[in-house]
Amino acid sequence: MQRANPACMADLAAAGTAFSPWPAAPGGACSVQQPLVLQRSGFKLDPPLKTACAMAKAWADFAPDLDRIALARAGSRIATVLTAGSWSCRSMTGNASRPSLHASGRAIDVYGFVLADRRRILVERDWSDDGPAGSFLRAVGKAACQRFQVVLGPPADRFHQDHLHVDIGPWKLCQVG
Ligand SMILES: [Zn+2]
Repeated sequence: MQRANPACMADLAAAGTAFSPWPAAPGGACSVQQPLVLQRSGFKLDPPLKTACAMAKAWADFAPDLDRIALARAGSRIATVLTAGSWSCRSMTGNASRPSLHASGRAIDVYGFVLADRRRILVERDWSDDGPAGSFLRAVGKAACQRFQVVLGPPADRFHQDHLHVDIGPWKLCQVG
C-alpha cells in the first residue's frame, strides 16, 4: 500500500480541480486512501469519479496532455470525460485472485469523450476508426502509457473493448496497440 501524501488534497486543489468529500467511503478490503469525489479535472467528469487522491492527482496531471492531443488530432478541445465512476469493490477482470486496482480507488475506466464542439468519441465505437476520432483515441492511449502504470485498451483483451483502463498500481503494462 502506498503511503498517504498529506499534501495531496492541497496539490489537487492547486491543480484547478473541483472535488468534494466522499462521505461514506468504504473500509476494510476495499478501503481507499484519501478518498474523494472528483467532479472536474481540466474537464468535467461524467459521472464524477470516486477515487483516491493520488489517482485524482495523476489524472489532473494528465489533463493538459489530453487537451493537447484533442486539439491536434480532432481539432477541438475536450468538454467532458465519460467515465464509469472509478471505484468498484471487485477482483481483477482477468485474474480473480487479485483485487482490482479499482477496489482501492487507484484506477479509472474511460469510455469516451465529449468534445467542445459536441462530438462524442467512444472507445467501443471509434477505437479502430480511420479518421480523427480513432487517431485521437489511440494517441490518448499512447500518452497515457507515459503517465500511468497499467494502460489497457481494446487491443488488450475482451474485457477492454469499450473502455481504456488506467491505473497507478504496482505493475507496469501498456496494451493500447
Ligand atoms: Zn479498469
